[in-house]
Amino acid sequence: MTIARPPSVSRLLESEGGQVLLAQYGHKPTVAALRAAIEAGRAAESFDEGELLEAAAQGFAASDLPQLRPVWNLTGTVLHTNLGRAILPQAAVDAAAAAMARPVALEYDLATGKRGERDSVLREHLAELTGAPGSVLVNNNAAAVMLVLDTLAKGGEVIVSRGELIEIGGAFRMPDIMAATGAKLVEVGTTNRTHLKDYANAINENTRLIMKVHPSNFRIEGFTKDVTASELAPLAKQHGLPLVNDLGSGTLVDISRYGLPKEPTVAEAVAEGADLVTFSGDKLLGGPQAGFVVGRADLAEKLAKNPMKRALRLDKIRLAALEAVLRSYRAAARPEEAIPILAMLQRPSEEILARAKALAPLVAEALGEDWSVSVEPCRSQVGSGASPTATLPSAGLALRSVGAEEIEGLADRLRALPEPVIGRIAEGALRLDLRCLGRDEEPRFLANLASP
Ligand SMILES: *Cc1c(COP(=O)(O)O)cnc(C)c1O
Repeated sequence: MTIARPPSVSRLLESEGGQVLLAQYGHKPTVAALRAAIEAGRAAESFDEGELLEAAAQGFAASDLPQLRPVWNLTGTVLHTNLGRAILPQAAVDAAAAAMARPVALEYDLATGKRGERDSVLREHLAELTGAPGSVLVNNNAAAVMLVLDTLAKGGEVIVSRGELIEIGGAFRMPDIMAATGAKLVEVGTTNRTHLKDYANAINENTRLIMKVHPSNFRIEGFTKDVTASELAPLAKQHGLPLVNDLGSGTLVDISRYGLPKEPTVAEAVAEGADLVTFSGDKLLGGPQAGFVVGRADLAEKLAKNPMKRALRLDKIRLAALEAVLRSYRAAARPEEAIPILAMLQRPSEEILARAKALAPLVAEALGEDWSVSVEPCRSQVGSGASPTATLPSAGLALRSVGAEEIEGLADRLRALPEPVIGRIAEGALRLDLRCLGRDEEPRFLANLASP
């Protein structure tokens, strides 16, 4: 029913639609939403009661969306730190959900009925997968490095190559972490060249450990020399110093099989003679955010006894997810079958190109006449500091304006969708790399694009 004058708020509240909103959102928010809808109706000079109620309901629906809701990562960066890095295998999602809803034997030994140790849940899996008998689990890899330095190097000196003094996005600076733990950083070598004798000359009675850091997000090229962990191991041993290797991403599989440059696996880093190896849970491992320290059992025990461990420990939800991830690595014939981010890295560009061709007309239809959609090759990257300079051939959609709207306007609109679509603007087009869009997800992706 359309009437010339706006209806009163109380009249709308009494209507059937008003009662539904009242029941769902409560009195005050519903009154405010109806007032806003009436004001908007005044501007449009339209006071259809059904439309006003619908406008109020839509306002609620939009503001009701959680802030931390799923998005479509079509940036071409598989492990996007700002989008939450790795997505988890379904088995890990199920395990985490079960651990959230039910009590679990977190620090409880089911065999004896006595108190158990939290990190022991993963120890056997980690020993099997990495060859390291000792392991400690913390909040993230930054915490892992902190715990190692605080436990083993506080008040002493730590030797690091100048070429490895990295800063990782979000203010993780190796020198700052060291300073925070009270360890004194001793830089050796030059930015591009460090020799074994540089390390040897720096060792004195205050030296507590030798550290190697993966240069995650940069690569120095040209006249370079760095000392490998296997070269450092005998030197460290000779002086009775622990050798710590911060791998950063830390992979359990040889990523050269995806066409990426070879990186040492965690097992290889352990076998090279590092006493402790640190790495992340949510980078190439493909699990939730976590930090791992694996290596010598006696050192791991020292770390576990540091009071700081209590502040950095993992919760039951992530432990449950991690256990499922590590079980998947052990059980699967090929890890890509079990770990989604590895499947994404392995996805051949021909297959992605074929999906881009199939999706292009459907996306064009959803976007309307003001936009052209073309299929174009592109390059994906791993992200999160793993293989920083390497890219993988991929394919995607390039969206260009053929109407009045600027490309930024389209990017804004796609980010405002119920499930925001995140692409990348480059060379006058909004680019959607389809590597991370699973084939079974395509119908939901298209439905989301077409939402009002
Ligand atoms: C990513 C990274 C870190 C930090 O790991 P988080 O899990 O993000 O805390 C530390 N060191 C290196 C070498 C890294 O690549």
